[in-house]
Amino acid sequence: MLTNDELAKWDRENFFHPSTHLAQFARGEAPQRIVTGGEGSHITDRDGNRVLDGFAGLYCVNVGYGRQEIAEAIAAQARELAYYHAYAGAGSEAAITLSKMVMDRAPKDMARVYFGLSGSDANETNIKLVWYYNNVRGLPQKKKIISRWRGYHGSGLMTGSLTGLDLFHRKFDLPLAQVIHTEAPYYFRRADLSMSEADFVAHCADQLERLIAAEGADTIAAFIGEPVLGTGGIVPPPEGYWDAIQKVLARHDILLIADEVVTGFGRLGTMFGSDHYGMKPDLITCAKGLTSAYAPLSASIVGNRVWDVLMQGSDEYGVLGHGWTYSAHPIGAAAGVANLNLIDSMGLVANAGEVGAYLNRQMADALGGHAHVGDVRGEGMLCAVEMVRAREGRRFFEASEGIGAKVAGAMMRRGVIARAMPQGDILGFAPPLCLTREEADTIVSVTRDSIVEILGNG
Ligand code: PLP
Repeated sequence: MLTNDELAKWDRENFFHPSTHLAQFARGEAPQRIVTGGEGSHITDRDGNRVLDGFAGLYCVNVGYGRQEIAEAIAAQARELAYYHAYAGAGSEAAITLSKMVMDRAPKDMARVYFGLSGSDANETNIKLVWYYNNVRGLPQKKKIISRWRGYHGSGLMTGSLTGLDLFHRKFDLPLAQVIHTEAPYYFRRADLSMSEADFVAHCADQLERLIAAEGADTIAAFIGEPVLGTGGIVPPPEGYWDAIQKVLARHDILLIADEVVTGFGRLGTMFGSDHYGMKPDLITCAKGLTSAYAPLSASIVGNRVWDVLMQGSDEYGVLGHGWTYSAHPIGAAAGVANLNLIDSMGLVANAGEVGAYLNRQMADALGGHAHVGDVRGEGMLCAVEMVRAREGRRFFEASEGIGAKVAGAMMRRGVIARAMPQGDILGFAPPLCLTREEADTIVSVTRDSIVEILGNG
């Protein structure tokens, strides 16, 4: 391909990048990466570097890069029918086929799937459906949504409010008043170090119970949570957490929304994270893994309890006034069908469980004893390494030291992408589900060498 020498300049002068330090980028102080290709677990950039992508883009390229089956399906759909809408009972063959495939794979007690474009809009849809549900039930006061600190649910007005990370609220006048946050199930960061995991689970359930009591259960509609906290630090919940939380929700007639944008379609070694943790959600949010990001598509999967009321609502109030021009876009749907077929034919759900467990084991063996590694944790094809100033007394580095970003930079120089997660010195790993053991070994050795470079032998 012809190299455009001006591309880097055009980028700094024209392109408003998401989640970027705008001023540093414009001044040329922040890194720039122009990616040109990808194959399997690797990407290549325009300078010819080939890099192992330990984060699958933004934990989304689950089948790996360069899958021709999906590219062909997209091209064929674009040639045959690039677009038709899905309003008023219209649809495309691809969207209808995908709806059947999603429902065949969904956890029990789910009724229908609505397709949007992104994780953020799917959560937005789910919140609107929750509000509609309680209005139809004659409970107009029951509207607040409980999310967790460190949860990540998107960056729209409502979804940015649900997100429990300061960076996404600061100077945006968020969170909105209808959203309240409770404690994250982050055992490593518990305030009281003397607590056992079981104590901490009881504490999280108790915090939730107190919040509900303080606000009034009759004002609270739903609780939203990722089966495993993602952007907040890649934190699997302590044993028994979801059980304890669901008991509280059931007592107060509060719906559960499982945000499976990261965990849906195999990342934990099960089709859904809800299956993995015995969650019984009323609504499920999916995006990323639905198409492995080959085209934008999201899914809001609606459970029977809510669906029955939505149907009743239509009979009482008419057409459900919700939808976008691009809802169930045929090209996204065609990508989804090809992607789910590929996940099956390549056995990627099982591979995520097996190679993911291997990656987590090897990481713990290589780094568990390092003086500046406080925690190595993960589940399925998710892994995190949290660095500390001292393990004794669990003392953290100052944020201004930027240790996580420095180690991620050292890893990049060695040809492996790890994500420096916000709010902590945490290296996050969420590789494509097709990762091999050899690639897992490379991730582990590069992580160890880079930590040694920045923090010493430990
Ligand atoms: N929910 C979760 C759990 C996510 O991790 C993300 C994105 O990372 C979202 C929602 C938002 O998805 P999107 O960026 O497609 O809007």
